Amino acid sequence: MRITKKVFKDLAIFMIGFGLIIGIIFPFFVIALGVPKEYILTPIFIFLCIFAGIFVGAVNIILARNIVGKRLSLLSSKMSFVRDKLTKELSSADLAESCEKNCIIEVDSEDVIGESAASFNNLVHTLANSMKNEQAIKDFNKMLSTQLEIEQLSQNALIKINHFMDSQAGAILYEQGGELLIAASMNIKNPESLLENDAVWNAMRLKSRQRFTLTNEIKIESPLINFFPIETIIEPLLYKNLPIGVLIISSATNFKEENDYGFEMFLQGLSLSLRNAITYDQLQKLAANDPLTNLYNRRFGMVRLTEEYSRAVRSNLPIGIIMFDIDHFKVVNDTYGHTVGDKALVNVSNIARMAIREGDFLIRYGGEEFLVILPGASKEDTNYVAERLRHMIEDSSIKYGELQIKITISAGYSSFPENDVTDENNLVTIADKALYNAKESGRNKVIGYID
Ligand code: GH3
Ligand code: MG
Ligand code: MG
Repeated sequence: MRITKKVFKDLAIFMIGFGLIIGIIFPFFVIALGVPKEYILTPIFIFLCIFAGIFVGAVNIILARNIVGKRLSLLSSKMSFVRDKLTKELSSADLAESCEKNCIIEVDSEDVIGESAASFNNLVHTLANSMKNEQAIKDFNKMLSTQLEIEQLSQNALIKINHFMDSQAGAILYEQGGELLIAASMNIKNPESLLENDAVWNAMRLKSRQRFTLTNEIKIESPLINFFPIETIIEPLLYKNLPIGVLIISSATNFKEENDYGFEMFLQGLSLSLRNAITYDQLQKLAANDPLTNLYNRRFGMVRLTEEYSRAVRSNLPIGIIMFDIDHFKVVNDTYGHTVGDKALVNVSNIARMAIREGDFLIRYGGEEFLVILPGASKEDTNYVAERLRHMIEDSSIKYGELQIKITISAGYSSFPENDVTDENNLVTIADKALYNAKESGRNKVIGYID
């Protein structure tokens, strides 16, 4: 029943009107109870009754306005605050934080007013949470779009996912040639054990999430004490519905349902980016490596040489290079065929790999010609490595039926700063000259370039 468009105005009309009616009826009621008419039907008594009725109505409306109206206007001002923030605030994370701090209403009654306040608070909490999720997903996707290397991408993704899910440990594994490799791991005591873990393989095979409470398969390594997680999720990372890896996260508390949606979003972004990173990695390898020997190819090798040479000049460190070439390789091909020749090339590459240290580079420079870059090596070191390599190859042989085929190499080397060179190409040219001298002077020899 409405009279005006304002609830409190309607209420005032009803309350005062009701008071007025009571004020009018009251004298007759008193007469009915037996009080003599002459006391009642006096203008002053009737006026006082009507006045009292109106007065009670007016006081009621003031009380209602103060008790109910105040709470309703608080609710409305908080709602306006949320709306203002929504239209003005730039970042949804800031917005979520300021909303949770400033928009909550104290629930001080157990009735419909209290319920409205509680519902409003829940609404604010859900809104803030969804904003936090939105911001976290935005940040996550932004990070993914700037990373192309598998390990770096996975490490950053793992940090962000653990932060979002409130978990303390995790790992990202990816599949390559039917095997799993660790792309990143965080606080897991023995991440290698995950590669053989049945649950991990089940997640890959069944393409479905494996969720455990209180498993002792994974142990979390924390700065203070190693502990078993309360809950672990093993999630297959799918690309076009094919498993390309798994994400594992472990937490000391149960995962919260309110993070489910955000987690799904993280997984979608991660799967796609991981797939890109794997493809990028494969392309990089294809572009940089020689398919037969799996050594760096010449193009990529020369880029490395330029980098290493500049580094040596900049940091005033020596650098040595060796050019070596298989002796009479044409004869090997002509006598035993190209397949055996290829085998010999692979054999030489493998031996050369063993002869160098980590940080050195081995390049297939041409058909049966190789270049070795030795950052930090002096002339003497370079000579030592070249001789060791020559000996190792001389001592090896390739099986051909009953026969053992023996091959040798000749090597020429140069080094900076011992040789007076202008640039890295010059270093290669003089090593090649030294190699030519080694060939000319009888092969199976190492010769250093002398200025
Ligand atoms: P030298 O001692 O003067 O180096 O004699 P050589 O026979 O090794 O040199 P030459 O340059 O005359 O011959 C190189 C041979 O290497 C010819 C070429 O067919 C062979 N070769 C180059 N690349 C490959 C390859 O990928 N596989 C095989 N099987 N042979 C290759
Ligand atoms: Mg040769
Ligand atoms: Mg040659």
